[in-house]
This record gives sequence, C-alpha cells and structure tokens, in this order.
Amino acid sequence: MSSSFQAPKGTYDILPAEAATVLAVREALAAPLRRAGYGYIETPVFEDINLFSRGVGESTDIVSKEMFTLTTLGGDNLALRPEGTASVLRATLEANLHRVGNLPVKLWYSGSQYRYEKPQKGRYRQFWQVGAEAIGAEDPALDAELIILAFDAYRSLGLRDFRILLNSLGDKQCRPVYRAALQEFLRGLDLDADTVRRAEINPLRVLDDKRPEVQKQLVGAPMLVDYLCEDCKAYHEQVRAVLTDAGVAFEDDTKLVRGLDYYTRTTFEFVHDGLGSQSAVGGGGRYDGLSEMIGGPALPSVGWALGVDRTVLALEVEGIELPGAAASDVFAVPLGEQARTVLFRTVTELRRAGVSADIVFGGKGLKAAMKAADRSGARYALVAGDRDLADDLVQLKDLTTGDQTPVALDALVTTLKEKLS
Ligand code: AMP
Repeated sequence: MSSSFQAPKGTYDILPAEAATVLAVREALAAPLRRAGYGYIETPVFEDINLFSRGVGESTDIVSKEMFTLTTLGGDNLALRPEGTASVLRATLEANLHRVGNLPVKLWYSGSQYRYEKPQKGRYRQFWQVGAEAIGAEDPALDAELIILAFDAYRSLGLRDFRILLNSLGDKQCRPVYRAALQEFLRGLDLDADTVRRAEINPLRVLDDKRPEVQKQLVGAPMLVDYLCEDCKAYHEQVRAVLTDAGVAFEDDTKLVRGLDYYTRTTFEFVHDGLGSQSAVGGGGRYDGLSEMIGGPALPSVGWALGVDRTVLALEVEGIELPGAAASDVFAVPLGEQARTVLFRTVTELRRAGVSADIVFGGKGLKAAMKAADRSGARYALVAGDRDLADDLVQLKDLTTGDQTPVALDALVTTLKEKLS
C-alpha cells in the first residue's frame, strides 16, 4: 500500500534505478567545464525575490507567472531560484571574485531550479540544470568556448540528434533601434491584451510566442539581423568562425530570442529533435548588462544552462544506456550468530579496502539469505558457518558460475581484490 502522500505536482522522485543515469548525466555535462578551468559554485536555493525580478526581468514568464515565492516569518520576500545566472552573478559580486582574480571569472554549478509551470513530459516544476558562467570578459572566443563545451558534453554522452541554434540579439547601440521598429510593427497587429502589454515592455519576447495565431501575424516582422550594428555583426562573425574551426555545426536562427530579458549579442539553444514540444535541452547567451541591472559594475558575461531532466529523456529517445549503478561485488551470508559478527567485521574491512560489499539483514534463514544474495546482483557470495570459522575459513561462491571455494579469512581481502581487478 502506498502512503497517503504523493510527490507534489510537477515534481518526481529520482529512484535508484534511474539515479545512475541522472548522476552520470550531471557528471558528463560538468566534465568539459572542469577541464576548461571553470570552478564549482553553489548558491542558496532561494534568494531575494528582487534579484530575479530585476535580473531575469519583470516581463518574462519566469518572473511574472512562474516564481515560487515565500514570505519568511521575519517578513523577507524570497523566491525559489528559477534559474542560476542571477544567483551566480550575485554571489560573484558579493564575494568580489571579479576583483581578486583573472577575468573572466569562470564558474559552473549543478542544482535544482523551480518554475511554476504547467507540467508535462520534459517540463517540471522542479528540474535540474548544470550551468556555466564566464563573467567579466567580452571575447567572441569565450562565447564559442561555452558552446563548444556544451557540444562536447552532449557528444560524450553519445547524443547525436541535437542541433545548435545561434543568433545575435544586438547590443545597447542597435537593439533599441530594432526594438522601436518591432514595436511599431506589433502595434499594427491584432493581439490579445496580454501580448499587447508584452509588446510594450519587451517586444522581442513576442517573437518567441509559439501560438500559431501569433506566429501567422509575425510574417514580415522586422528582423534583428537587419538592424545589427557593425560591431555586433563583426562579433557574431567571429563567434561563428571559432565554432566552425572547432568542427561545431550550428544553424543561424534569426528568430531565436529565449525567455529571459538579460541576453545581448550571442544567444543559442541546443534542441533535441526526438523530444517533441519540449525540445530545448539547453541554452544560453551573453548578458553584458545583467551585472549593472543588479547593482554591480559593468561586467560583460556569457553563460549557459543545460537541462539534466531533458538530457536524460534525450538519451532514452536515442536508446543510449549509460553504465548502470554497480551492484555490490560481494554479498555476505552468515550462518549463525557468531558467523554474523565475524562476517559483519569482514564486510566493514572489505569496504574500507575499497571493495563494495553488503550483508544480509533482518534475520533471514539460509534459503532467503541466498536468494537475497542472488537478487543483489553481486559477483560473489561470502558464506560462512561456525565450522568454517573454527578453521578460519569462509566459502567464496561465484554467483555466476556457482563454483564455491574455501578462502582463508586473513587472505580474503587480497584474494577478492585480485579476483575483481
Ligand atoms: P532556460 O533557463 O529556460 O534557458 O532553460 C535551460 C534548460 O533548462 C532548458 O533547455 C531545459 O533543458 C531546462 N528546463 C527549463 N525549464 C524546464 C522545466 N520546467 N522542466 C525541465 N527542464 C527545464
């Protein structure tokens, strides 16, 4: 019988059967970052709500509709983090990391994020991201580096059916001109009140609207690519050149805007073609103005976040199985109380020597205990009764072949380590 409780809507438990894959994905997404000089950072799961409304943007769905907010008993207004960039930048500024070391400050994180979204496959209210931020440098090679690292991470997992969409959103010179032109165009359309409001606050976000009735009207909208200033064009060309040089294929997607307000210049998304409507597995871009938006100095920066949950789904779709959780190598079955004391000690000794070992619990009889050993998936069962122990022996049973050999207790660790190597 199950309990009266269930995991809250839009959340799920990561159970041991899937956990090995989840952990392997987190590790694979992070490994290229470690090799590229990114340092690990952890920030709190909740922050001052204003960090997100100012940083991520009031007009974004993430802030206007999807934040999990709470007021503490002390009256502080907090929000569960909906994304990592604002927090990482806040932590960098607070600890003055941008002053004490080389720029860019390169950081990576791994953790859960929270958005009050309508749950569906691939879209949850609690999900996991591995993210990277390179703070305090404006250099096309840095934007490209991050894209290459994400590309290498997905490839290392064996994924093939993903594409990289690339765009430039311009900078504070050219974006406002484009913004005004787009706004002018949008004012002439037949849009619902919400979208009209969005067109006034952040018109670029309207381009991101997936609804067919909106998309239909957007045909003929002015495109940012036609408004990019010379600096932005040159910058973007360099990003593209570095990617090409690294053998990373990408598609230019002049409509790619992404859901956060802080992006400037380079923006990109990794999409997986087997995932249906929730096809974005990761994305990011440059956010040159964010530091100032949250009260810091000018610190041009670039980063990405890759979704762990959707990467796991993408692996399933491509039929890729990562090596599963290793079962214990050894499973001990003591026959009698005295044997139990000795084998428990032996199991502890094996574990300390680096051999994974387990022992039957709960006072099972021999038959049930041997069944538990079989079920555990261990290579060897370690069986001992009082008579064996009187001779300082244990029986080592190979659970694949059924062969059983006596081994001297004091030679057990060495024997097992040899057999398992
Ligand atoms: P974003 O922070 O919106 O750019 O998202 C970056 C990545 O996080 C996406 O490409 C997804 O893989 C993942 N992601 C975002 N929102 C969700 C969600 N609600 N559920 C699962 N994964 C998500």
